[in-house]
Order: sequence, then C-alpha cells, then structure tokens
Amino acid sequence: MANDKINDKVAVYPGSFDPITNGHLDVIKRALSVFDKLIIAVSEKPEKKLFFTVEERIKMIKDAAKGLDVKVESFDALLTEYVKKKKIKFVVRGLRAVSDFDREFQMAIANHELNPDMETFFIMTDKKYFYLNSTLVKELVKYGGNIKEMVPKNVEKALKDKFVEQNP
Ligand code: ADP
Repeated sequence: MANDKINDKVAVYPGSFDPITNGHLDVIKRALSVFDKLIIAVSEKPEKKLFFTVEERIKMIKDAAKGLDVKVESFDALLTEYVKKKKIKFVVRGLRAVSDFDREFQMAIANHELNPDMETFFIMTDKKYFYLNSTLVKELVKYGGNIKEMVPKNVEKALKDKFVEQNP
C-alpha cells in the first residue's frame, strides 16, 4: 500500500463514551466483522457535561474491550481533521432512535463536506440496546437501579465507586 493511500480497513469509532455501555460494545464487535481494526476515539471535551475524566473513560473501554482488535485514544480536534491526519476513510457511528438519525444525518453531511474522503458508516443498534445510553445508566446508578445488563462489569463498578466518591 502506498504511503499516501487512504486506509479503508481500519475505521474510527468516535464518541464521548461517558461511560462505555453494552450498546457501544455491540457496535464495536459488529464493526470488527467489517473492518480489520477499530480506533476508538474518545472525545476529550464534548459538548456534554462529563461524569468521568478522559483517562477514566479510556481505561474503562480498554478493560471492556480486552481481546478485541481495538486501539483506544483520546482526541481533541475536529473529527474530519483527525481522520485526515490518520489517512482513514470510515467513521463508524451507531444509530438508535429517530432522534439519533436527525443529528447523525446532519453530522455525516457536514463531515463529508469538510472532508470528501471521509464516509460515515452506520450500524443499527441491536433491539436489546435500543433504549440504552450513557445518561440513562448514570441516572439509574444515582437511584440505585440495576444496570447489570447494560454495562460491562468493570463499568458497573466504576460507576458505583464514582457515585460514592461524589456523594460521601
Ligand atoms: P457522542 O457524544 O459522540 O454521541 P456517545 O458516546 O453518546 O458519543 O455515542 C457514540 C456513538 O455510539 C454514537 O454514534 C451513538 O449513536 C452510538 N451509540 C450509543 N449508544 C448506543 C446503543 N445503545 N446502540 C447503538 N449505538 C449506540
């Protein structure tokens, strides 16, 4: 492969992952049946208010995705510039409800305008994870709800520890 060729075997999966859930993991595993490897790009300062630091989010993903062909790193740039620098073509995103579609559609079009070499690759959520998002999991922990089926074991523990740390 020539040095300047765009890599279409490795994809980037960007997100805030605050924290990673089984819905994210499902997208990761299914993306790995299409691509050789995934770079999970954890946004350092997304628009959202964060519960975990970027280091904590990265560690949780690394532990949860042990054995999978992924690289986990932080990014703090425009996504289009980040993939351009890495010479990567595909960006993976997950789609849940109709509400996701509107935002994702807008982002995919804007990103393609900014970087025509980049393509967004959507993976439809599994029906088990249709309702699942990181915010819901954090809410449930706050009120002592059961999140066992929603997040990997290490994340369940991290969420409970963090909640106790913040509410001594
Ligand atoms: P962002 O702030 O970039 O939306 P998230 O961590 O919330 O970061 O989500 C990252 C990606 O994972 C998004 O494309 C989102 O739609 C997808 N995703 C999140 N939860 C699920 C789920 N339960 N099923 C499928 N995709 C999901």
